[in-house]
Amino acid sequence: MRKQLIDHVGFNRTVLEWGAFVAVLVFTALLIVNFIWSERRLITTAETSRMQAQTRIIEENLSHQFQGVRNALDSAREAVSNPDHCDAACQKLLLQSLKRAMPGVRAMVILDSDGKIRMSADDMGDRHLDDRDFLSQISRMYSRNLMYLSQPYENTPGVFNIKLSVPVLDANGRNAGVISAILNPEYFDAVMRSALYAEDMNSAITEEDGRRILFVPANLTEMRSPGGGDDDFLARHLRNGATTSVLTGRTASGEKRMVVQRTVTQGDMGLDKTLVISLTRSVERLHAGWHDLALSYLAAWCAFALIGGLVLTFIQRRRGLVHNLRQIQEEHQAEAAERMELALSSANLGLWDWHIPSDCRTVDARSNAILGYTAEKQHNGPGEWRKQVNPEHREALDEALRLHLIDSTTSFEAEYEMQHRDGHWVWIQCRGRVVQRDQQGRPLRMVGTRMDISARKKAEADIAHLAFYDGLTNLPNRRLLLDRLAHAVAKSGRGGYHGAVIFVDLDNFKSLNDTMGHDMGDQLLSVVALRLKQVTREADTVARLGGDEFVILLDDLGATPEEAAGNAEFVCRKVLSTLNAGYSLGAYELRSTPSIGVVMFGSAMHTVNDLLRQADMAMYEAKAAGRNTFRFFNPGMQEALDEIAMLESDLRHALIRRELLLHYQPIVDAEGHLTGVEALMRWRHPLRGLVFPGTFIPQAEKSGIIVEFGEWALETACEQLLQWSKSYETEHLTISVNVSARQFRQPEFTQRILQIIERTGANPRRLKLELTESMLLTDIEDLIAKMSMLKTHGVGFSLDDFGTGYSSLSYLKKLPIDQLKIDKSFVQDMLLTPHASSIVRTIVSLAQSMGLQVVAEGVETAEQWAALRRIGCGNFQGYLFAKPGAISDLGTWFIASEATAGTGGRVHQLALVSPVV
Ligand code: C2E
Ligand code: CA
Ligand code: CA
Repeated sequence: MRKQLIDHVGFNRTVLEWGAFVAVLVFTALLIVNFIWSERRLITTAETSRMQAQTRIIEENLSHQFQGVRNALDSAREAVSNPDHCDAACQKLLLQSLKRAMPGVRAMVILDSDGKIRMSADDMGDRHLDDRDFLSQISRMYSRNLMYLSQPYENTPGVFNIKLSVPVLDANGRNAGVISAILNPEYFDAVMRSALYAEDMNSAITEEDGRRILFVPANLTEMRSPGGGDDDFLARHLRNGATTSVLTGRTASGEKRMVVQRTVTQGDMGLDKTLVISLTRSVERLHAGWHDLALSYLAAWCAFALIGGLVLTFIQRRRGLVHNLRQIQEEHQAEAAERMELALSSANLGLWDWHIPSDCRTVDARSNAILGYTAEKQHNGPGEWRKQVNPEHREALDEALRLHLIDSTTSFEAEYEMQHRDGHWVWIQCRGRVVQRDQQGRPLRMVGTRMDISARKKAEADIAHLAFYDGLTNLPNRRLLLDRLAHAVAKSGRGGYHGAVIFVDLDNFKSLNDTMGHDMGDQLLSVVALRLKQVTREADTVARLGGDEFVILLDDLGATPEEAAGNAEFVCRKVLSTLNAGYSLGAYELRSTPSIGVVMFGSAMHTVNDLLRQADMAMYEAKAAGRNTFRFFNPGMQEALDEIAMLESDLRHALIRRELLLHYQPIVDAEGHLTGVEALMRWRHPLRGLVFPGTFIPQAEKSGIIVEFGEWALETACEQLLQWSKSYETEHLTISVNVSARQFRQPEFTQRILQIIERTGANPRRLKLELTESMLLTDIEDLIAKMSMLKTHGVGFSLDDFGTGYSSLSYLKKLPIDQLKIDKSFVQDMLLTPHASSIVRTIVSLAQSMGLQVVAEGVETAEQWAALRRIGCGNFQGYLFAKPGAISDLGTWFIASEATAGTGGRVHQLALVSPVV
C-alpha cells in the first residue's frame, strides 16, 4: 500500500517535471519566434523603406536627366525654330555641343516629319533611322510641352536605345518634325545600378502597358518581350492606384521577390507617358538574415531541449534509482525489523533501554506483559525499575551490571526475580550490552532483552527435586541425605555438639509387599514417611534410602555424648511407638514393626559412609535381637565391620592371585547314579584358609566384582565340561553354575556366555545356569529374552532355592526353565513339619505338571531321600551323597559310586560318602 503510494507520488512528480520542462520549451520557443518575427518585421520594414527611398532616388535621377535632355532639346528647338538667329551651321554646332554636354546622349538628331534626318550632331549624315516604330510615331507628336519617349529599340543585337523627342511645329501648330536625343541606355544603366545595393536586386522602368524601358541588370528576354501583360506585380500596382506600392509574390520563374514600385506620371517629368519604376529583391535573400538567425536560434533551442530533456531524464532516472535503492533498503529494513519482531515475539523477549546517567529505564509492551502490565511503553523514573527486582537478587544484579559496565566487550546476563503486577515473583533472564559511551568511555546507554524463564526455573527445580527427593514419599533421597549428613558432621566437628543417624528398616515389609501387592507396599511406605516426619523436628532430616529403609538425621542433640544419646534414644522410642500403631490402608488393617540402628557422631572424625554402615549394622543387631527394637552401634560391631572391609579389599585381588577355585557337588538320580554336579565357588585366602561363599559372595555382589567372579566360574566349569566330553563315562555329565542377578543383568551377558562356550569348546547342552527367584522381580522381559536366546544354543536353566522367593506361578510358565531346585530348608524340615512337607509335595507336583525336573537340595539322610523318592522327586543333591569337593575328590567318588550303583540304597550311600569324609 505504502509502496504504491510512493510510486504514485513519484509518477506525479515525473509528469509535473516534464510538464514544466515542456512549458519552458514552449515559452522559449514563443519568445524566440516573437523575437525572430519582430526581427523579420524590422528587416522587412527597413528594407521596404530603403527600397522606397531608392526608387525615389531613381526617380529624381531620372527626372534630373530627363530635365537636362529636355533643356537641351528645347534649346535645339529654339534654334531650329528661329533660323534667322541661328543658321544651319550654328544649329549643327549647337547640336554637337549639346550632345557633348550631356553624358548618356549618344546622338542628337533633327528629323523631318517623315522621319528623315535633317541634321545630326555627329556624322550620321542623312542616314535613315531604322526604328520604324519611332518613325511612325513622329507625325503624332505635336505638343510643345511634352517630351516624347520612344520605346527601346535594339539597333544592334543586345544594345538598345531610347529616344527622347520634342516636336518642331510650324506656324499652324502642325508637326514639322522632331528633335530627338538618342540616349545611351548604358548611362541609365549606371544611374539605376547605383540604386542597387544588393546583388540580388534588380530594377526596371516600365511603361504603364508593361513595356520595359530599362532593366537592370540587363535582361535581354525582358527587354525583348513586347509587353508586360504577364507582369503580375505591375498589374497589382496599377490596380491599387497608389503612387508607391510594396508587393511580395512569385515571379514567372517561380522566385519569390519583394517589389517596390513607384508611378511617375506624365506631369512629373513632362513626358508623354506614365512610367513605373520598380525595384525588386529576392525575398529569400532578404530574409536570409533572419532565417540564419532563426536557424541558429532553432539549433540552440533544440540543443537546449535535447540537453534539458536528457538532463531531466538523467536526473529522474538517478532519482528513480536512488528511490529504488532506498525502497529496497527500506524493504530490507522492514524485513529485518519484521524478522526481529518475529524472533522477539516467538522467543517472548521483551526489550529494555536504560539511560545510565539518569538511571531511567524504558521497556516495551512485551517487557511490560511479562510483569502483567498492558502499556505499550513504560518509562521508569530514576532507579524506579530496581524496585521491581526481588531485594534478595538486587546485589547480584548490581554486581553483574557493574562488571559489564567497566568492560562492555562481554555481554551482560543475569537471572533474577521481578515482581509481577499481581504480587508474585517472575523469574527473568536479562541480557544486554552497552551501546553508547561518552568521549571518556563512560557508559551512557544500555539496551537488552528480558525473558520470562519461570517455566525453566520451575523445571530446574523439579529436576533438582527429582534428583534429591524420593518420588514416592517426597522425602530426601540418599544423595541429599549424604550431602546433609556431610554438612552435619562437619558442623558438629566445629561446634562441639553431637548428633545421631537413625537407621529404620521395616521388619515384615518384603512379605507384605509380596502378599498384598506393590500398591499396598507403597501406601505403607508413604504413611511410615509421614509418621517419621511427625515424630521429628523440622530441622531433622528424614530420608528414604530405598525399599523399606529410612534414615533420620538428628542434628545437635546435645553438648555431651551422654545427653545426645539420651535424646536419640527418646526419638527411637517415639519412632517405635508411632510405627507400631496400626495402619489402615484401604480396606485393610495392617501392623508393621521397625528395627532401628543408631550411631552417634560428633566426638570423633567420621566419614559419612562409615556412619551409614554403622547404623545399618546396628539395625541388623536389632533384627538379630528379635526385631521391633533399636540398637546403638558399638565397637564390637565395628570389628565385624572392619573384617568385612578387609575382606572386600582382599576380594579385589582374589582373581588376579588365582585364589578362587570351584568345588563340585554331585547330583544323582533316584538310583544314586551321578547325572551331574553343581559348581560351588571357594576362595583360598592366604591367611584365612578356605573361605565359603556365604562370607564373600554378598561382598562380591555389593562391589560388583561378582560379575568377573561369575565369568571365571563359568569359564572354569566349561573347561571341565570339555575335559569330560573326551571320555565316554563322563561325557553325559552336566555342570550347574550359579549366576548372580547382577551378572545376569549385564547387557552383554548372553554374548559373554556364548563367547565362553565357543572359546572353551564345551557342549552347551551340558551346561545349566542356576538362577534365583529374586531375578524375576525386575525386568522380566529382558530376562526371558536372554534366557530364550541361550536356550536356542542348548543352555539349560534351573531355578535355585525354589520356594523361598516370591515367584508367582504365572512367571514360571513364561520362563524357559528346565529344572526347579527345592530349597534345602524345606528338605530339612519336611520330615519335621507338615507345612514343609506339603510345600515339597506341591513343588514336586507343580514341576511334574509343567514337565520340569526337580532337584532336592540338602538331602542329608536316607529318610529324606526315601521320602523324596516316594513323592516323585527324581534328582538329589546333598551331604548324603557327597559334600562339595575338588574335581580330584569327585573322580574318586565317581569311581566308587559307579562301582556300587544299583546295589541298593544303603550300601550305595556309604560308598558315596566315603570319599569326602
Ligand atoms: P546354593 O546355590 O544353594 O548352593 C548349595 C549350598 O548348599 C552349598 O553351599 C552347599 O555346600 C550346601 N549343601 C549342599 N548339600 C548340603 C547338605 O546336605 N546340607 C547342608 N547344610 N548344606 C548343603 P555353599 O557352597 O556354601 O554355597 C552357598 C551359596 O553360595 C550357594 O547356595 C550359592 O548361592 C552361592 N554360590 C556358590 N558358588 C557360587 C558361584 O559360583 N556363583 C554365585 N553367584 N554364587 C555361588
Ligand atoms: Ca545353587
Ligand atoms: Ca540352592
